[in-house]
Amino acid sequence: MSNTNTCTCQRTQLCNQVIKLLQEQKNIQQSKTLIEWVVDTYGKDPFLILVACLLSLRARDSQVQKIFPGIVSYIRTPQLAIQTPVLQLETLLYSLGFYKAKSKTVRSVSRELIDFFDSQVPCTLEELVSIKGIGRKTANIVLQYAFGVPTVAVDVHAHRVSNRIGMVCSTTVEQTEVALMSCVDKKWWHVVNRCLVLWGQQICLPRSPHCSLCALKKYCCYYSTVQKHPKK
Ligand code: SF4
Repeated sequence: MSNTNTCTCQRTQLCNQVIKLLQEQKNIQQSKTLIEWVVDTYGKDPFLILVACLLSLRARDSQVQKIFPGIVSYIRTPQLAIQTPVLQLETLLYSLGFYKAKSKTVRSVSRELIDFFDSQVPCTLEELVSIKGIGRKTANIVLQYAFGVPTVAVDVHAHRVSNRIGMVCSTTVEQTEVALMSCVDKKWWHVVNRCLVLWGQQICLPRSPHCSLCALKKYCCYYSTVQKHPKK
């Protein structure tokens, strides 16, 4: 971990203030992430949560949510997923983009679960990331939502928003995960992902963040820099 991620009192305070404030925002309270929707609709099914995460890579949550009800019967278990013919799976996933790669990953992950984990999704980070195709973000999401393990899952939204605000100062999502876990009080870990992801999808957009609408203005490094040095 770089020195810039060393957690100071100030940074700890900032992180906890930001997460607390985000939690209180109406749009955050009224919105669901893709995985929260999956849990609400299908229960805490570790395999469905895992597949939803795999499908959401480089796709919008809304796209995955749209096709998910139509594919559940084909991917409800690892056995069903590998029994579904490749072409059929690719057709089902076509609208997501990268459908060939996603179909391949769903099948290979299912195969590993059958061969090495008795067809069950494992419940440790080490085991999850040992499976080809499962990264730390997906593993942390599965741990949190399927098994209730306190973790901080970091995707591109959480990485961008937390760096813009100044909660962390990191160049990779892995560094951001470590930094957030060391700065944010453990009692908030279960909401860090949802708060930062939803804020990143709705307000702190990648190209043109809606700073004028943002409740975090007074805390945000990016905003104070832009204010001081506006584009001419
Ligand atoms: S003030 Fe702007 S840059 Fe900062 S968190 Fe809000 S939207 Fe993002």
